[in-house]
Amino acid sequence: MSASIVSRPCLAAAAASRARLVSRAARASTASSSSNDKLHAVGARALPIQVRGLAQIARAKKGGFLAEMEEAKAEESGAKVEFTLPLSIQKYPHVSLRNDNKIIGVFDAELEKLAQAMFKIMYETEGVGLAAPQVGVNYRMMVYNEAGEPGRGKEVVLVNPKIVKFSKTKDLFEEGCLSFPKIYADVERPTSVQVEAQNLRGKKFKMTLDGFEARVFQHEYDHLDGVLFHDRMTDEVLGSVRGELDALIDAHPAGEPKGV
Ligand SMILES: [Zn+2]
Repeated sequence: MSASIVSRPCLAAAAASRARLVSRAARASTASSSSNDKLHAVGARALPIQVRGLAQIARAKKGGFLAEMEEAKAEESGAKVEFTLPLSIQKYPHVSLRNDNKIIGVFDAELEKLAQAMFKIMYETEGVGLAAPQVGVNYRMMVYNEAGEPGRGKEVVLVNPKIVKFSKTKDLFEEGCLSFPKIYADVERPTSVQVEAQNLRGKKFKMTLDGFEARVFQHEYDHLDGVLFHDRMTDEVLGSVRGELDALIDAHPAGEPKGV
């Protein structure tokens, strides 16, 4: 897989470059489909760990028992989403990007309303994916549409998603993030993932994602664990965007915590 392939999860992809992104995504999807049979069980080795955001990544890795306990609790108490419209995109280093995100237990009209509002702001900001904590709503939910335009592509809403398998094969894509305006950099991720999730009515389902869709999903999934894309950059890549990160911290002083 070429390192030059560009993908821009939850990012402001300019209209002019959208066709290029989609065609590249389609190519990436085709190229990686052969790696489907190489999926393996999630384990400690599956996550490409960098040293930053360690607490969030460690928490994500605990998975299993803690996640089940939390899920059982949520089902018992029926965690219902709470939000205020209109939504707005929270920029790094806003605290909502690092907060814990609750498992959703109530599947009602409010949840549907949140999904629609998330798509609306995602399209308005020219993104292809958006996770609820990015709009200050700390629940485990994401939306995406690879085409990045209403009426085109496939709108996907995933509630309480889990990754059950990662592919062994990984690739390097240039990512952006709506919470990090104007920052684009290479991030390594598995090329394919198997996912379990619920839809807006609470129905559970499984799916296998490849190529650009797998890339977008994993970027958004990280948001649900409070992991941000620069947590996964190499030191060299991080160094190349350090100035822009510092500028964001200066531009959004109300957002705690400061720094990485
Ligand atoms: Zn993002």
